[in-house]
Amino acid sequence: MYRPTRRHLLLTLTLLAGCRPAPSGPPAGVVVPAEALAAIDTGSFMGQVRALADDSMLGRGPGSLGEDRTVAYLTGQFQAAGLAPGNTDGTYIQKVPLVGITPQGKPVLSFAKGSRRLELAWHDDFVAWTKHVADRARIDRSDVVFVGYGIEAPEFGWDDYKGADLSGKTMVVLVNDPPLADSTQFGGRAMTYYGRWTYKYEQGMKHKAAAVLIVHETERAGYPFAVVQGKTTEQFDLVTPDKNMSRSEIEGWITLDQAKALFALAGQRFDSLKARAATREFTPVPLGVTASVTIDNKLRTVDSRNVVARLEGSDPAIKDEYVVYTAHWDHFGIGLPINGDSIYNGAYDNATGTAGLLMLARAYKALPTPPRRSILFLAVTAEEQGLLGSQYYSVMPIYPLARTLANINMDEINKWGVTKDLTVIGLGASELDDYASAAAAEQGRTLRPDPEPEKGSYYRSDHFNFAKQGVPALNPGVGVDFVGKPAGWGLERLQEYTSNDYHKPSDEIRPDWDMSGGVEDLKLFLTIGYRVAQAEKFPEWRVGNEFRAIREATVKK
Ligand SMILES: [Zn+2]
Repeated sequence: MYRPTRRHLLLTLTLLAGCRPAPSGPPAGVVVPAEALAAIDTGSFMGQVRALADDSMLGRGPGSLGEDRTVAYLTGQFQAAGLAPGNTDGTYIQKVPLVGITPQGKPVLSFAKGSRRLELAWHDDFVAWTKHVADRARIDRSDVVFVGYGIEAPEFGWDDYKGADLSGKTMVVLVNDPPLADSTQFGGRAMTYYGRWTYKYEQGMKHKAAAVLIVHETERAGYPFAVVQGKTTEQFDLVTPDKNMSRSEIEGWITLDQAKALFALAGQRFDSLKARAATREFTPVPLGVTASVTIDNKLRTVDSRNVVARLEGSDPAIKDEYVVYTAHWDHFGIGLPINGDSIYNGAYDNATGTAGLLMLARAYKALPTPPRRSILFLAVTAEEQGLLGSQYYSVMPIYPLARTLANINMDEINKWGVTKDLTVIGLGASELDDYASAAAAEQGRTLRPDPEPEKGSYYRSDHFNFAKQGVPALNPGVGVDFVGKPAGWGLERLQEYTSNDYHKPSDEIRPDWDMSGGVEDLKLFLTIGYRVAQAEKFPEWRVGNEFRAIREATVKK
C-alpha cells in the first residue's frame, strides 16, 4: 500500500538507471566463529520450514487463528533459542493496526454504450475491491477512459495524460512500462516503479479517478490471472486517518479477453490502441462507454503483529546500533480452493525465509561472544497485502533507523540445491554488495543481478520499506546456476514455480526439496550481518544512488 512521493520515484529511477560498481575493498577477514555456522544445518532448517508450512498453521493469514498459531510458534522459538524480547515493552510483539475488507457476494461489472451492454463476471472476468473503509463502494455510469500506461515520467519526457481531466472517471490502464525499442528509456528490460500495479492505483488517486481497472496480461504482469483472483477474498491495509478515502472508490483488474470485448463495444481495437500507447504522442481515449459496479464490504479491524527478537551487542559503546534481519511470516491463509485445496501454505513463500530467520537467531546465539552491535530478528506481517508490517516498522521503528546499519531481507530461500551464484535484487545499490560478494567468494560463488528484472522485484518485498527510509537494504534472491545442472535449469525451476505454485495452495513442501543450497545462503547472510555488526563504519549507498541522500540527511556522521 505504500504511497511513494514523486521524489521517491525519481530516486528509484536514478537507482535503476545509475547503479554502478564502486571500487571498495571487500570487508573480508572478520572470521565468523565456527559454532555459529555449524548451527545452520539442513535438518533443522527443514524442520522449521515444515512447522511453518504445516496445514495446522492454516496458511498463516493475518488476523486469523493461523496468525495466532504462527505468532505463538515464532515467539516460542525465539524464547527457546534464548533471544531477548525485541520490543522495548518487554514483549516479542509489535502490534500492527490493520483493517480487513472483504467483498460480499459476486458483484457484476457492467459496461454500457447506448443500449448495448457488456457484463463481466466476478472472479472469472474481473477482480475489484475498495480500500475505502466503508460498507459499500460504488461507481454508477462512470465514463471510461483508456489512459495507456497511465504514466507521468518527466525525466523520460513521458506523460500519458496530457492534461486530461479524469475526475470521477474510470481509468482503463495497461500494466508494466511501455515496451520501447530504446532501452535507455524506462528500465530497458527491467520494470521500473512506473510499471507496477501499485503505481497505477496511486495515479488513479492522484487524478481523482473514481475507478482504476488494469488490463491483465500474463507476461507483462509477470504472473497469471489466477494470482489476481486471489484478491477476491479479504484484503488488508494500514488504517490511515482519512480511512483511505483519498484513494479511488474502485480498484481492480480485468482479463485481456474482456478488455478486447470492452474496446470492441467502444468501436475500437485493443491492439491498435495498445500500440499507440507505446508512443509519446499518446493521449487519453474516451471510450464512449460507462462503467458501473457496486461492492458491498464486510469490515473488521485487526491488530496484527510483527514478531521481534533481539540479541544485545557486546560493545557497550555501540550496542544501541542494529543490524536488522527481516522475513515475512504471513501468507494468504484459507482462501478459494484450487484442486480441492483451500490452505495457502506458502511453504516457499515464505515459510523458508521465516525458518531462515529462526535459524539465524539460533546461529547468532551460538556465538561465543555476541557481535559488537545488536542484531534484530524481525518477522513481519502482511507482506502479501502490500508490505504492511515492514511499512509499519519503518515508520514506527522500535530502534532508530539512523542507528540501523543494514537490513537483510529473506523472501523465499533456495529449495533446489547448491548454486554457484547468488542473485542480489538491486545489485549495485550499496556497499552491502561488497560484504555479499566477499562472503560469496569464500564459498566459491559469485553474485549476479536479478535474472528476471522485468518483474520489478525490487519493489516487491520488505527491504524496500527500509530502503525508502535510507537504510541500506540487501534483498538476496535465489541463484540460478545450479551445481550439476545444465545452464537454464535454475531459471526453468523459478518459472515453473511462478506459473504453477506462486500464491496458490500448491505452494507446499515437495519430496524433492533440497535445502543444501539454502543452508549455504543462510551462512552467507550470517556472515554479512556479523561483519556489518563488527565493522568500523556504517555501510553506505553507492555514490550516484540517491537513497544515499536520504541516508546522509538522517545519519549524523
Ligand atoms: Zn514473499
